[in-house]
Amino acid sequence: MNQSTVPVVSPATLEIVPLGGLGEFGMNMMAVSWEDTTILIYAGVMFPDPDQLGVDLIIPDLTFVEARREQVKALILTHGHEDHIGAVPHVVERFDGPIYGTAMTLALIEPKLEEHGIDARDRLKTVKPRETITVGPLSVEFIRVTHSMPDCVALAITSPAGTIVHTGDFKIDQTPIDGEHFDLHRFAELGARGVLALFADSTNVDRPGFTGPEIEVIDAFEELFTSTEGKLVVALFSSSIYRMQLLVDLAVQFERKVAFVGRSIIRNAEIAQRLGFLRLPAGIQIRDAEVQEYASQDVLCLTTGSQGEPQAALPRMSIDDHRFVRLGPDDTVVFSARAIPGNEKAIARTMSHVARRGADVVTDSMKHVHVSGHGSAEELKLVLSLIRPRYFIPIHGEYRQLSQHARIAARVMSGIEPRLEVLLAQDGDIVQFDARGARIADKAPAGRVLIDVTRIGEVGDEVLRDRRHLAGDGVVIAVVAISRQSGALVSEPELVARGFVFGEDEESAIFSDASAVIRECIESSNVEERADQGLMTEKLRGELRRFFKKRSGRRPLVLPVLMEI
Ligand SMILES: [Zn+2]
Ligand SMILES: [Zn+2]
Repeated sequence: MNQSTVPVVSPATLEIVPLGGLGEFGMNMMAVSWEDTTILIYAGVMFPDPDQLGVDLIIPDLTFVEARREQVKALILTHGHEDHIGAVPHVVERFDGPIYGTAMTLALIEPKLEEHGIDARDRLKTVKPRETITVGPLSVEFIRVTHSMPDCVALAITSPAGTIVHTGDFKIDQTPIDGEHFDLHRFAELGARGVLALFADSTNVDRPGFTGPEIEVIDAFEELFTSTEGKLVVALFSSSIYRMQLLVDLAVQFERKVAFVGRSIIRNAEIAQRLGFLRLPAGIQIRDAEVQEYASQDVLCLTTGSQGEPQAALPRMSIDDHRFVRLGPDDTVVFSARAIPGNEKAIARTMSHVARRGADVVTDSMKHVHVSGHGSAEELKLVLSLIRPRYFIPIHGEYRQLSQHARIAARVMSGIEPRLEVLLAQDGDIVQFDARGARIADKAPAGRVLIDVTRIGEVGDEVLRDRRHLAGDGVVIAVVAISRQSGALVSEPELVARGFVFGEDEESAIFSDASAVIRECIESSNVEERADQGLMTEKLRGELRRFFKKRSGRRPLVLPVLMEI
């Protein structure tokens, strides 16, 4: 869209433009402006559906930000989930100015900026709850809220037109694991003083009652620690620091060592330990490489892959393709996370593979091993009652959730004067507040941008590793044709190598052995595995890598190409 389609801010008007997260889950972002000052709240991503091939991430359309480049004075963050910070590397270079967030949030952003080769360390400004910062005519106060990870805040933004409250993501956990309580007092004070507008999280609006505290899962896990004779493997989101703490504490009690398995969980656990949000008693932690040195009943693995992502640790373990961790009959594998819509098939496949190794599979429909981080209907009502806003704008959700939240708000506020007005805004709507009231006045460019990490030339860990393999040990491409019906090999695999092997004789010897490895790998897979192209590709890659390593002592980049005929 043309940048000239972004209108200028009207005088003496508070203008708010949601740029993402109102009409979908994820890629949350919002712009708040008073005259020539704009602040951005969040820069989140959304993850693509499995059928959006070649798309790694989805971020909000940044045309609006580019058009306002000179006015954008700060980026404000509430917590460290990807749907709120994942697009920070794409946004920081489109404005000059500080990025405000709590210690945990900023610590999670640092490695992201590093991966993108962006040095913005001197723009990262750490804030604490009840602290207020000033950006031109706007001031922003940070208020402690509880959620599924540590160090989360809501925002009270004061402009000449009045104060708006933005909840961020929250639930009301009255027994928080780190003792950092939801600042209900401050919410009540702001409400008593008068709040112009409330922007509140709608994620769990269709769940009745209260969501429940993080500690609620302890009972189910105590049972699992007691009943599991082998390894206990728990797959969870790598940001679920509270859940990790709770499991570490149980591991101490039940005398198991704790291993973090998976790149992102190892990194986040390190960050959380460094900042004091995760406490591990000395001697309890072992490295992933050490798991096999311990008796399986003495080990707890905290791992990635709860969504069945083929590259993550648990799905790899489930097909015997993890470097260090194998699953066996006495083990229990717990899926301690919700299934993100779209991932159900991949998760179910992983569960079947785990079951095939003889291990027990436990999900949150069998035992209470997961609790949401978002407030249910009664918590949303409580926040409305405390804030008593003049205007209400539901955020974070699909349209059906936003409209359900609007109905709930009308019920909570009925009989309270002046009457609550609800503005059901969507991405791109320009919401104005001025002396005459509030309205959705106009439309700004908004939408989605699909990011293919490889094509826009950004270099992540994965790419770097591939390049190292290429430079040092060459590449082997294996073209494998299999029957669409039976999944069996239809012809001899074709192997092509560059920069890898030595003499011609040696090459043909190695290749014929590699063909045997491929054949063996396919024949030993069952029909279900063979039908899963992504999985078979991963499995072949793993087998071939091991074969070449063993045979030549080198680690070429292995690219299996599976063709169904
Ligand atoms: Zn969140
Ligand atoms: Zn969120």
